[in-house]
Amino acid sequence: MTAGNYKEALKDPVFNMISQAAQNINVDAYVIGGFVRDYLLQRGNKQDIDIVCIGSGIALAQEVKKLLPNSTKISTFKNYGTAMIKTDELELEFVGARKESYDRNSRNPVVEDGTLEDDQNRRDFTINAMAFSLQAENYGYLLDPFNGTDDLLSKVIKTPLDPDITYSDDPLRMLRAIRFASQLDFSIDPVSFESIKSNAERIKIITNERIVTELHKIIACDQPSHGFLLLEKSGLLELILPELTALKGIEEVEGQTHKDNFYHTLEVVDNISRHTDDIWLRWAALLHDIGKAPTKRFNKKVGWTFHGHEFKGSKMVYQLFKRLRMPLNDKMKFVQKLVRMSSRPIAVIDEAATDSAVRRLIHDAGEHIEQLMTLCEADITTKNLKRFKKYHSNFQKVRDKMVEVEERDHVRNFQPPVTGEEIMTTFQLKPCREIGIIKAAIKEAILDGDIPNEHDAAYALMLRKGKELGLKTA
Ligand code: ATP
Ligand code: MG
Repeated sequence: MTAGNYKEALKDPVFNMISQAAQNINVDAYVIGGFVRDYLLQRGNKQDIDIVCIGSGIALAQEVKKLLPNSTKISTFKNYGTAMIKTDELELEFVGARKESYDRNSRNPVVEDGTLEDDQNRRDFTINAMAFSLQAENYGYLLDPFNGTDDLLSKVIKTPLDPDITYSDDPLRMLRAIRFASQLDFSIDPVSFESIKSNAERIKIITNERIVTELHKIIACDQPSHGFLLLEKSGLLELILPELTALKGIEEVEGQTHKDNFYHTLEVVDNISRHTDDIWLRWAALLHDIGKAPTKRFNKKVGWTFHGHEFKGSKMVYQLFKRLRMPLNDKMKFVQKLVRMSSRPIAVIDEAATDSAVRRLIHDAGEHIEQLMTLCEADITTKNLKRFKKYHSNFQKVRDKMVEVEERDHVRNFQPPVTGEEIMTTFQLKPCREIGIIKAAIKEAILDGDIPNEHDAAYALMLRKGKELGLKTA
């Protein structure tokens, strides 16, 4: 990796087109940022490409559009001086080179036109400030004023300018530093990291939406603990997700200790990330123990307890989502449900996985039973190999039992074998309490295994129950 020519990187005809368009309107244009970084890292093919030109980004985008099929979509953002073109495969973002100056209370700078160097100076990291030229005379030439290529080789995140200025100007960059370190498996330059620590409080001027965008990206990493450990060490986690830092530490009373639930949680998140890319399931893993901090008690007889932490935790999920302005929709409900049910499969194992315990678990988890089982298996973090094997084999037994029970009893998407209407016609009833009582009795009997999940057995039970309630058949 050296300065030099990277024509290879710009093989896609779209780059020639941009080069041509830039010539037509007589501006210099460059590919900059993530595309250059990821190309040099040989990191897959990147679909969002940033183009900077010395002039108007909007004018260049309009000129590029003329060279593309008529149906191509372009969006312009006059306030920001940017434009975006979407083709089938690519998202091209155009911006004019700019110089920025910041005010202490906002991350929105005062912007004026600038040179390519000005523009590279305002970039967040050396590895994000590299550009490939699109000029005919040096097409593919790498412009790397801060030796970003060296930092790619030594795998460090570093700011182009004094980190105190870079982070204080736009504190979102602190989260971006941690996110990139986690995504690329880089370290953060020690001077930079010290600066993040001392500027951590400034994260308060960043909107929750932007914070959450970065958190999602950290959670989506192969090993999310990388990012979360940096967040914790920098002091940012305490400010963003205090529910997690509250889980830190081990207390000892009368010689009895409990595990450090913060590090345990990070292990669970790493474990689950090997089995799922679903970020909401990963969020559930991250939050599954947050109820443990407020419910922790010491009891002379049994030692440390966290009674009701699952229920408490699921309530905290709502507060946390609300505070961070995350959607309070079915995703949140899913996370709540998994947190609330996070100890259920273990309880089933403790009850020797009886049919009825398994049936109730399947019924209560419904369509999310698989995700719940994945979460609970990821929750096994014991370092004792014998126990580790035993817990996993217990889980396998429950899974086998689940298949068997579900094949026979179909309780996963439970449909009452006798409907409310049938009950009403049988006893000539208008809608009333008794119908609910009978339906509940049938469901309980099926879940307990007293009757099979079949119409005739349920019908017979309905008649018995009706009689008990003093109802008369038609
Ligand atoms: P990703 O693959 O995550 O999209 P990226 O490098 O393309 O990585 P973007 O957020 O799309 O990241 O930003 C594009 C480029 O804009 C970055 O490479 C960087 O040069 C610059 N940039 C983005 N956000 C900032 C910021 N907050 N401060 C300074 N420069 C930034
Ligand atoms: Mg990008």
